[in-house]
Amino acid sequence: MYDLIIIGGGPAGLTAGIYAQRARLKTVLLEKQMVGGQIAVSDVIENFPGFPSISGAALMEKFEEHARGLGLEIRFADVLNIEVEGDDKVVKTSEGDLRTRAVIVATGAKPRRLGVPGEKELTGKGVSYCATCDGPFFRGRDVMVVGGGDTAVKEAAYLSKLAARVYLVHRRDKFRAEKMHQEKVEAAANIEILRSHALKEIKAENGLVQKAVVMDLKTNETKEIAVEGVFIFVGINPTTDFVDVEKDGGGFIKTNQLMETSVAGIYAAGDCRTTPLLQVVTAAGDGATAAFMAEAYIEEHK
Ligand code: NAP
Repeated sequence: MYDLIIIGGGPAGLTAGIYAQRARLKTVLLEKQMVGGQIAVSDVIENFPGFPSISGAALMEKFEEHARGLGLEIRFADVLNIEVEGDDKVVKTSEGDLRTRAVIVATGAKPRRLGVPGEKELTGKGVSYCATCDGPFFRGRDVMVVGGGDTAVKEAAYLSKLAARVYLVHRRDKFRAEKMHQEKVEAAANIEILRSHALKEIKAENGLVQKAVVMDLKTNETKEIAVEGVFIFVGINPTTDFVDVEKDGGGFIKTNQLMETSVAGIYAAGDCRTTPLLQVVTAAGDGATAAFMAEAYIEEHK
């Protein structure tokens, strides 16, 4: 019997783990694949206070070291669902059932697919959702980046250091990304920005990406651009299917400002919940609040 089960080992989950250990709660953090979350594949983080510039992987190693240093138990298991039994919750996992009083869901989100012809078949054959993982394969080659948020614009700047040329395709005239990131892509000599354009199809030769078909949304004209890599960064989908609590239209878990979900004793923190800002610093803040509230709930239901 645990006091607290934290699901997900990104910035929100690890921070919740740090606070839970300090509160002396009997806690386990369950992670499906790799501790660190989405941010661990980010080339550089420049907005986490105290670290003017650090790689996502290095920052998450520090989070993990901190949590493990306090004695946090981390187990690898895929959570299938959560059943509520009175004041207890039974977390059903690929490795068996675990009983707990409180749960913090900190499962984050995954990249959204665009759904254009060629995308699915060519994933791993030139189509990618991770510049840090796959960027080095395209050294000296031409690539395309799709999207206009922080991820697309930041990753386009990163790829421009490796690729010969980067085409940045965005469906609107205005980017959603932070101004600082935009300035970097606008200043890069080898980034061509295609505003008001949409990627329509990805074409291959011998099973590898060779061309991208884009449409000018103002004129409806299409053209083919020779690229060997297509990086798609068009937003994220939350990993929340396994938990039966109230969610918004996008599947993000609804919480109040105390990270409480619609089910007593189940909290949500970080990118998997409805929140205006998806950053390491806000995810960490959510994790701290969730653990603090879980501690009070556990105390009350002892
Ligand atoms: P995002 O902010 O939701 O941006 C998604 C982008 O994809 C938008 O530009 C959107 O266009 C475009 N898009 C969505 N659906 C599309 C479609 N079907 N076809 C073409 N384009 C489409 O997603 P994100 O960039 O992954 O960022 C997610 C969150 O993480 C954000 O809160 C972001 O601030 C945060 N983040 C922060 C940093 C940082 O360094 N501070 C880095 C990465 C991510 P429209 O603009 O037209 O809607």
